[in-house]
Amino acid sequence: MGRYLRPHTLDDALGAMAAGRYAVLAGGTDFYPARVGSPVAEDVLDITAVSALRGICEAEGGLRIGALATWSEVVATPLPRQFDCLKLAAREIGGLQIQNAGTIAGNLCNASPAADGVPALLALDAAVELRAAARRRVLPLAQFVLGNRRTACAPDELVTAVLLPGWGRGARSTFLKLGARKYLVISIAMVAVALALAEDGAIVRCGVAVGACSPVARRLDALERALTGRKLARGLSAVVEARHLAPLAPISDIRGTAEYRHDAVVTLLRRALEQLADE
Ligand SMILES: Cc1cc2nc3c(=O)[nH]c(=O)nc-3n(C[C@H](O)[C@H](O)[C@H](O)COP(=O)(O)OP(=O)(O)OC[C@H]3O[C@@H](n4cnc5c(N)ncnc54)[C@H](O)[C@@H]3O)c2cc1C
Repeated sequence: MGRYLRPHTLDDALGAMAAGRYAVLAGGTDFYPARVGSPVAEDVLDITAVSALRGICEAEGGLRIGALATWSEVVATPLPRQFDCLKLAAREIGGLQIQNAGTIAGNLCNASPAADGVPALLALDAAVELRAAARRRVLPLAQFVLGNRRTACAPDELVTAVLLPGWGRGARSTFLKLGARKYLVISIAMVAVALALAEDGAIVRCGVAVGACSPVARRLDALERALTGRKLARGLSAVVEARHLAPLAPISDIRGTAEYRHDAVVTLLRRALEQLADE
């Protein structure tokens, strides 16, 4: 059994990280399942008492979501419609007990290809704030999650917040997840679509991201370009073509074949656009 620390301030937490190697523990909903059957041998830094890592607030015209914000807090916080995709993803993460304990930073740091928070945050142009004892840096989410279970977080760093820009009043978004059943399921594929609209309904900014179809969730740049400038209206979903899925590399596994995932993503994207047009 290694050491167990539960600091109350960010300085103390970062000081410990500077002085030694610690496994960081937040909600524990990924941490413990990864260690079933073996005692926790590492030194553990439990960050759940660091109140500076909590809270969801407006910042610089957008949102600052503390690393320890739970999925239940994301659901419960009144937010502009731009962030609906994040709330919809939060509702699909495990059951209520998991949503009460699991945190936004834990989902990103665990870096599962099937992490439901990642496509929603990617579509919204999220950035990740990282702190070490003597430095702070902010990385676009696409540069933070590097691969299956791999992130850019250095051993002496903590994720302290997720930063989301505000896209203006006309922005809206949605998230659709496909699993083998409706709830409590690992995703076969999921999509997030975020749109900022001009007064006349023209799409002026757009984020489309797909998860569980590549080692890291990916933005679909070609589809975003095809959508930008068009009016959000019924029928827009016809813009989605199979060629837009080129950045994806779906695998065949117990949950579905690569072909099925590919078809499912086209359907989910079309449904997401129709849903946004209907709102
Ligand atoms: C039954 C069950 C169902 C689930 N269903 C889903 C689902 O449907 N969709 C989904 O996406 N996920 C699901 N999960 C996974 C999990 O609940 C989420 O990924 C959750 O957001 C993880 O957050 P956590 O706070 O519990 O992370 P933890 O388990 O505490 O940590 C996860 C990893 O992140 C690191 N870490 C945590 N916080 C920080 C930080 N601030 N800085 C640096 N490193 C950090 C830890 O060291 C660890 O490696 C499920 C888990 C369970 C047990």
